[in-house]
Formats: sequence, structure tokens, C-alpha cells
Amino acid sequence: MALLEEAKSVAGQFDYPPEELNKGVKAFIQQMDEGLQKPGTAMSQIPTYVTSVPNGTEKGLYLAVDLGGTNFRVCSIQLHGDTTFSLTQSKVAIPRELMVAKTSKELFGFLAKQIENFLKTHHDEHYQAHVIRRKTMNAQAAQAESEIFQLGFTFSFPVNQIGINRGTLIRWTKGFDIDDAVGKDVCELLQTEIDALHLPVKVAALVNDTVGTLMARSYTSPGKTGTLIGAIFGTGTNGAYVEKLAKITKLSHIEGSEYDRSTGEMIVNTEWGSFDNHMSVLPDTPFDSDLDKESVNPGIQMFEKRVSGMFLGEILRRAMLALVSNAQLFKDEHSGKNSLHSTTTIAEDSALYKQWGVDTSFLSIVAADKTPDLRVIRQTLSRDLGVDAASTEDAEAVKVVVNAIGKRSARLSALAMAAIIIATDNHISRGAGEEDVVDIGVDGSLVEFYPGFDDMMREALREVPEIGDKGEKRIRIGIAKDGSGVGAALIALVAAQKD
Ligand code: ADP
Repeated sequence: MALLEEAKSVAGQFDYPPEELNKGVKAFIQQMDEGLQKPGTAMSQIPTYVTSVPNGTEKGLYLAVDLGGTNFRVCSIQLHGDTTFSLTQSKVAIPRELMVAKTSKELFGFLAKQIENFLKTHHDEHYQAHVIRRKTMNAQAAQAESEIFQLGFTFSFPVNQIGINRGTLIRWTKGFDIDDAVGKDVCELLQTEIDALHLPVKVAALVNDTVGTLMARSYTSPGKTGTLIGAIFGTGTNGAYVEKLAKITKLSHIEGSEYDRSTGEMIVNTEWGSFDNHMSVLPDTPFDSDLDKESVNPGIQMFEKRVSGMFLGEILRRAMLALVSNAQLFKDEHSGKNSLHSTTTIAEDSALYKQWGVDTSFLSIVAADKTPDLRVIRQTLSRDLGVDAASTEDAEAVKVVVNAIGKRSARLSALAMAAIIIATDNHISRGAGEEDVVDIGVDGSLVEFYPGFDDMMREALREVPEIGDKGEKRIRIGIAKDGSGVGAALIALVAAQKD
């Protein structure tokens, strides 16, 4: 078969038609419901103990850190109390060896050190004042001073949360694997290392990034009613939403859990990355199943493995390799036609041959290339993947497959959103009134940078009958820029008020 034909046939395997999508929505609602009733279900539906959302008038200076997957961010946030804020941020990549370190002390010690560096760089006066106080008073008295920063710790892995700043790690995801941390309170792990460095910092709140994103959205665009969702499409994918307390029936079985019942609501962290881990409705290709088999956590996070930034590049790599062996992708017969060079070469150490070698940002570059001879794709193939002198046909073949992988990811993302909208009883397709609005704060490189991700999600939302054309127009999706940082600050604020 000709290369392009073969590429289209590979792309076709990623089709996700409306019937399948709607079947997925139904299964998602069912799995959400199960998760609200009992522990140990596919989707964890974790109660967050956050029972109110901000209204934009909150004020103060807070610290936030974010361990999300690829990077560790430290920031300080000044909330101005008028829906605006200013934020100072530093960001470091997590060294791979720390993601799989022998002990959690190595990882958390590294995180505390980054907080120390941040304070010395951006809040030195505050930090030095604390150092002097420590020298002149006993340590306990210094800690009792009011200048302790309240810190919101965004930790975007599944935790069993038992209080606003207490939660034990259920399992690692996104390539992390440090045995001794599982089952431990991650706030305590971080506080211990912060205390070892004598920093004026209290871990006040444990925050999931989706909850932070939801809170940030609520602070910056207050006054809305209706469904409120926070969603992440970055290294991983996950979402949180505001649920009625009465529906979270498993709360009554959680020993010692204390929370404010006055609002009748609580934010629930769905952990939708593990939706349908038993594969009753999720689409599956040989590339997906091979990726899963060779991952550190086979059979787990099956939804995430089809949607998020950590995996799309790897799915594409596997699909491209199939085209290299079956269909003459990057072979000489196809090179030269549209290129001055005559011979395509794939470097021996090409990232194409390495597991995780293709980054999802490559898909964004490919999908964005509108040049007639797909020059940008060919240049990127050469620069990032060591494929020299690829032909236009090669580039077209890659693009066809990329579009299919990106589109499936966006449609699956829409599935999750549609399910939550329907499950929270929002009859937006009927358009009853102002309360029937859906406000979705999103964050993550995939949704921010992949061309047309939002449009593809919206197209799929219209294909869900309970939403339809009319409902889709009532859905506001906005990037919650720096959302998890601001959200973590807002949750630290709420937690400090309750102390
Ligand atoms: P995190 O989720 O770790 O907090 P990000 O939201 O930046 O951080 O997501 C990082 C993930 O996004 C990585 O898996 C990376 O491959 C992917 N990514 C980075 N840049 C882009 C891009 N331009 N387009 C699509 N995906 C990207």
C-alpha cells in the first residue's frame, strides 16, 4: 500500500465516532456514581474537604508549590481581593532519578531545598528576619511568630485525603515510583524536610491541581452559578467539580473526617485518569496496548494513557515505527521527490527508537504546520528525531497520524466534561436560565498549546444529545493561567482561617 494510504489506515484506528463517545459518557457517569458511594472504585472520586469556592474578594500573601509531573514550581501569590493577583514563580525540572529514587527523603529534600532557594531569591528580607529571630529566640518561639508563610501544596497524584492538610499517597502515576512514600502523609514528608532547613513555612493545605484550577477560576470569574469544573491536560489529565454533599455518601464511612456542612457542597477530585481501567468502553489500538504493557503501571490510568501529554508522543512514536516497518516511512523511495536531498536517513540513536523519545510538543508542532511543503515538520523531524531529508509525503503521513491522535484525545476529554455536566444535573440543552451555565477552568500544556484542542472538544460536546448545539454555547472554557498556584493559595487561605 502507498505510504499515505497506510498512514490513513493507521489514523483510522484512532477514530472515535459519536456512538462510542456517547457510550463512554454513560459509563463515565456510572463510574462517577460508584466512586461517590464506596472506596476502591475505578474512579476514586476523592472528597477534598474544600466546601466553599472563592468569590474574588480574598486577600493576602501566600506560598504555593506544585509537584505536577514534569516540573516543580514554587511561587508566592499576592491576592489583591478584587479578582486579581500577582504571582512570582520559579520552576525546575524534576531530575528523572528523583522520580524513581530509593527513598522519599531524596525527593522531598530536593523540594524543600527549592523552597529555600525561592525564599532567598524573592523574599530575602522576610527570610533573613526569620533567621535572625531563630538565633535570638528558641526555635519554638520563632515558629510561633506570625510571619510564617502558609503554603498550599499542590500534589497531583492520587491521595487519600483525610483533612485539608493531611493525605496519604495511594499510588504514583506519570512515571514516578518511590515505594516508601506510598501510604505516607505527603504533607508531613514535605514539612519534615522544610523543618530540617528551618524555613518559616507551614504546609497548610494539600491541593490537587484540578481543585486549585477550579478555585482559581472561581476567584477570577466569580458570581457565576451552575456547574463548575477544573480540569488539567498536561503531563497527566484529571478533573474536579463541585458536588452535592448528599451525593457523596461514602463520606459517612470515612472515620474522623470533619468538614463544614453549611454549604451543602464539597469539591470532589474525580481522578478521571483511571476512568474505565477495566477497559469496558475505552478505544484501544495495538499502539495503546503496547504502550500500556511496557509502562511502569500496566492496566492503570487507562484513560490518561489515551489523553495526556505524557503519552501522546509515545503513541505517535509507536505508530510511526509501524509505518517505518510496514509502509516505507522515511525510506529512500519517498525522499528526494520534494527535497533537494536524495537520501533519507534515520540516525541510529534517533529518539524514534527510544521509549518516551517523542515529546507531545512535537505533535503540536506537526499539527500547526500549514506550510505547503510541510517544511516545519521536516525540519523538526531532522532536529528532534534525527530523521534527515524526509520527503513531503513522509511529513504528510506523520501529520495524518498526529491529527488522529490529537483528535481522539480532545474527544475523550470532552467525554469527561460532558459526563460531569450531565451528572450534576445541569440541563443546559434546555437552557432554562442563568443558572444553567457551565464554567470550566482548564490548565496544562496540551490544552494550551495543541492547535484546535478546544474546537475539537466543543465539536464532540455538541455530539452528546444532552448537550447539543444549544448547550455547547453555554459552556465557558477558559485557561486558568497559573491556576494551580493561585488555587493552592486560596485553599491555604481557607485552611488558615479554619485553624
Ligand atoms: P505538568 O502537567 O507537569 O504540570 P505541563 O502542563 O507543562 O506540566 O505539561 C507537561 C506535558 O505537556 C509534557 O508531557 C509535555 O510533553 C507536554 N507538552 C509540553 N509542551 C507541549 C506543547 N507545546 N503541546 C503539547 N504538549 C506539550
